Amino acid sequence: MFNKLRLLTPGPTPIPEDVRLALARDMIHHRKADFKRVMERIQPGLQHLFGTREQVLPLSCSGTGAMYAAVTNLFAPGEKVVVVEGGKFGERWREIAQAHGLRVVSLVQEPGEAVTAAAVGEALAMHADARAVLVQASETSMGVLHPVRELGALTNGSNTLLVVDGISAVGISPCPMDQWHIDCLLTGSQKGLMLPPGLALLSLSARAWDKVRDVKPANFYFNLLAERDKNLEHQTLFTSPVNLLQGLAAGLDLFRTQGLESVYRKQWALTKMTRAGVRSLGLDLLAKTHFTWGLTSIKLGPGIDGGAILKTAADSYGVVMAGGQGDLKKSVIRVGHMGHVDWSDVLAGLHALKMGLTQAGGYSAARSYLEDALRAYEEALEGGYPGVEA
Ligand SMILES: *Cc1c(COP(=O)(O)O)cnc(C)c1O
Repeated sequence: MFNKLRLLTPGPTPIPEDVRLALARDMIHHRKADFKRVMERIQPGLQHLFGTREQVLPLSCSGTGAMYAAVTNLFAPGEKVVVVEGGKFGERWREIAQAHGLRVVSLVQEPGEAVTAAAVGEALAMHADARAVLVQASETSMGVLHPVRELGALTNGSNTLLVVDGISAVGISPCPMDQWHIDCLLTGSQKGLMLPPGLALLSLSARAWDKVRDVKPANFYFNLLAERDKNLEHQTLFTSPVNLLQGLAAGLDLFRTQGLESVYRKQWALTKMTRAGVRSLGLDLLAKTHFTWGLTSIKLGPGIDGGAILKTAADSYGVVMAGGQGDLKKSVIRVGHMGHVDWSDVLAGLHALKMGLTQAGGYSAARSYLEDALRAYEEALEGGYPGVEA
């Protein structure tokens, strides 16, 4: 069957035509005026997207590279940090921190649960020497949204930095860096930014830069102070990912024409739509209250093989979705609806899910799931999006 391919995964995500065309442009040289103009053009767009007046630095790496750059620049081995471990990506913060010789206080969450500001507050009270809280804005492995705004209220004015992996939040749900007192915000290109993988973006607050100057990191690559100086000359330290940055410029133009507000509104509506459709199919949602926008995680009943559902959805309907991560590989399905995804993609996703489910022996009598989903979408579009910890 010739199906239209629909990528409903939590990264990589579909790429809009304007961005694809920009990616296909002729190569330009990364030390010449043409390229510097691209760098100059993207900076205000990135600052708007991050909600910051600080510089936003492009790094040539996947999102994890920016996490690594943050840890190795901000902390000296032996320092203590609190890590929120809400799933695989929280676990990654801990692993990077431990690899760098940090002492880690880990706050492990139940699957599908967000951390509470109270729990982080207690940990900080017990560990007054903790230099930072490391957290995901959105824990993509579970589809959980952590209360970053509340954490910022806790760490602001203390000597604890708030370091936020915003890889599945930036450009998807509000995460304004300056307003929420985030000291380090980072993201990757292949999720909300609608670009191919391979580019990361990172920004630090003034006090985070002070901390980097204290630490004097020995990094040759990922030397953020040197990267920052080069960024002021509209360049990167080493050869720039030229095409990705040209694509980013086109993507930022799309954000600007649509307006961030309407992007968040759409993301919220697609999230409500997917959740309504999934519920109407008689399936359970993994994240009950603090759920990510741009990704819906479904908990399957016992005896139902998520792998088989995903295979049917992809092979027969052209819809590519993701399984769970780690222990949840077969018992969880994650439907991505971030970036360049619209209501019709979600309808296709829900239908493919239903057909896959039926084939996998989890027959659902649901009839009105598409109507229910569309109704939820219309209602959410009209109602607008909530303050962020929904
Ligand atoms: C995707 C993702 C990552 C990993 O990014 P890579 O680009 O694969 O290195 C890290 N954190 C979160 C929250 C993510 O969603």
